[in-house]
Formats: sequence, C-alpha cells, structure tokens
Amino acid sequence: MTQRDQSADQFGFETRAIHAGQAPDPNNGAVTIPIYQTSTYAQAGLGQPREGYEYSRTDNPTRTALQSALASLEGANYALCFASGMAAETTLLYLFKPGDHIICSDDVYGGTYRLFVRIFADYGLKFDFVDMRDPANVQNAMRPETKAVWLETPSNPTMKMVDIAAVAAIAHAGGAKVIADNTFATPYGTQPLKFGADIVVHSMTKYLGGHSDVVAGAVALNDQADYERLKYLQNAMGAIPGPMDCWLTLRGIKTLAVRMRAHEANAMQIAAFLAEHPAVDKLYYPGHPSHPQHELAAKQMCCFGGMISFTVKVGPEAAQRIVERTKLFALAESLGGVESLIEMPGVMTHASVAGSTLEVPANLIRLSVGIESVNDLLADLQQAMSGVEG
Ligand code: PLP
Repeated sequence: MTQRDQSADQFGFETRAIHAGQAPDPNNGAVTIPIYQTSTYAQAGLGQPREGYEYSRTDNPTRTALQSALASLEGANYALCFASGMAAETTLLYLFKPGDHIICSDDVYGGTYRLFVRIFADYGLKFDFVDMRDPANVQNAMRPETKAVWLETPSNPTMKMVDIAAVAAIAHAGGAKVIADNTFATPYGTQPLKFGADIVVHSMTKYLGGHSDVVAGAVALNDQADYERLKYLQNAMGAIPGPMDCWLTLRGIKTLAVRMRAHEANAMQIAAFLAEHPAVDKLYYPGHPSHPQHELAAKQMCCFGGMISFTVKVGPEAAQRIVERTKLFALAESLGGVESLIEMPGVMTHASVAGSTLEVPANLIRLSVGIESVNDLLADLQQAMSGVEG
C-alpha cells in the first residue's frame, strides 16, 4: 500500500498542497481534516481495528493526511512525520549499523553535525565531512562500508549547492543511499527524489509549517523496504508529532507555493541591496547571479526561497551591532516563517560546529526573509547597517 494520495497525481503542485490526502470527511463533509485528538480507537471486535487505527503512536488520521500530502508534494511513494526535524534524522540513522560510514556535506545545520559526531559516533557510525560542491570529493571519500551520502542543497548556512544527480550516481555505484535535507528548498523549490536522491528529510518547523508555531519533521521516500523499516522504527521509538502539530503543519502546507514565491520575491530584492552595500563582504544567495553555483541552482530549483547569508567586512562586532539593531527582522533562531528573522550562525544555530572543519565565519549573518512589505524590510536593514561601512 502506497502512502501517497495517488488520486491527486493528475493535479499541479498548488492543488495537491490543498487536496492531496485531504478529501472532505465522508461522514459530515468537513472540508478541513479534523484534529483527531485521541490516543486510542475503539475496535469493532477483537483484532478488528477500524480502518487500521489501533493506537495513536502507530497511526493517527490527522498524521495520515499530512503524510499523504507531503508524499504527494515530494513525488514520493511514502512519507512519515516526526516530532521534529531532529527526531526524523535520529530515526533515520537507525537504518544504519555500527561500522557503517556516512559521507556528509561540510556545511549542514549545526544540530545535524552534533547528532552525528557527538551522539551517533559513540554508537559506531562513522562520518566524514566533505565539500560536495565538487562531486569528486564524494567519490574520493567513498569506502566499501559507505552506506549513505547526506546533503543539504542549498546548505545551511552558507548556501552551498550540490549537484544531486552527480552525487547520486557516485553514491549508487558504491551501494550507498543519498539522503537530502530539503528544509531550505522545500518541495516547491526542488524535489530531490527526481534528481536521484533516495530519502528526503525535512524540518517541517520551517517553510512547510511556515508560521513559526510548530516543531515537526518528516522523511519522504520511494523504497518500500526502507519505508517499512522506518515505519517500524517510528512506532517502536515513538518520536511522533501530536495531532495538533500535524494539523498546523498541514494548514501551513496549503499555502506553501504562494508563500515561497513571496519569500523569493522579497529575497531577490534584499540580495540585490546587500550585493551593493559597502559593509557587505560576501553574499550567499543562490538566486543572485554572483553566487558561484547560480547556474546549478537555476537547473535544480524552480524557486530560490528566502534564505540569505552574508559576511560583513568589519567583523563580528559589526555583525552583532546589525543583528541587535533590526526592528522588523527579529533576532531569533529558526527560519521559514512568514516573519523575517536575523541571526549570527556562529554563536546561535551553528554554535555546535565551533572548532570543527564546519566552523562558520564569526562575521556571518543569516536572514530568513519573510513575506512582509519588502520596502519595510529594506528600510529596516538600511537603518541597522548604517554607519557599518567597510
Ligand atoms: N535541518 C535543517 C536544515 C535545519 O535548519 C534544522 C533546524 O534548524 C533541522 C534540520 C532540525 O529541525 P528541527 O529544529 O525541526 O528539529
């Protein structure tokens, strides 16, 4: 049984976001999937659960709807939702055994690095971090025991792009799976499975939820055996999202396409402003022509999203001054909500990579560009950056 709502396959992205897995309730016509706030289900008879529902750690109808919609958007046969992006990643790592080797991109979310190096390395998994902008680096890191290649594209926080198809060809030739964290791009921007990735992982806390009001994660994939193993792990380990969180995420997903277009439109103007600003040293936005991999980004993505990073010439003190002076951009971790956020990854989201080869520049600022009026956002950055010329 596939988890994707195949009846929606004929429709475009925007339609699937609203309808896949979300048919009106056959009993009363409710057009919005209810929040099935129940832990258990009355059975028709011994061993006769209704529609397969026995207990909400195992399955819940609100979660089923979300999983079905997400699978449809990622073009996957299956999706499974978790209590957070990290819960999804943790469960995923239990597909592997002590001694297995995972090659990871050398620019990933700090919490992913922490999970790998500070937790799973103690249980026998081996990790190498390489710059995947050149797929040859993946080839050189492959070993007989390499079981997975883990990438983010664009990466968090320096927006490196990875040629998924090229890396997938290398990984598959060596018997390894490709796992793509699609949090930044979202399925609206890119669908990694179409380029050869085997498993997509998400922090749905970000653009999928889209309103900074829920923490959730997911995986999406095509392989039935891996799905069944992950479903078993999801139930056995229990890192599931509650029905309310699934409902909030599903509501967010309905507007993903319009939000992503608005994020991108604002980010394009802000990137153009930053590219000309005398205080800016390097700009990292795959949608801007100055990005060294802009061509690859344009090939792989149909929307560049709202994440922009940049370094300031005069150093970390100036960066701190800027992030403390914005008024509309809130100084906060996380990303992907309708409201604009600003942060310094070196001491915030990526503090756990300090001292490692993944260390991010101390003068790096990351913006999550929201969907407010762009002139207000530009004016806010202008005032925060005034007097911080290089
Ligand atoms: N992956 C990426 C790219 C992230 O940015 C984050 C969080 O910031 C995560 C995974 C972890 O997700 P969560 O915070 O939902 O556990």
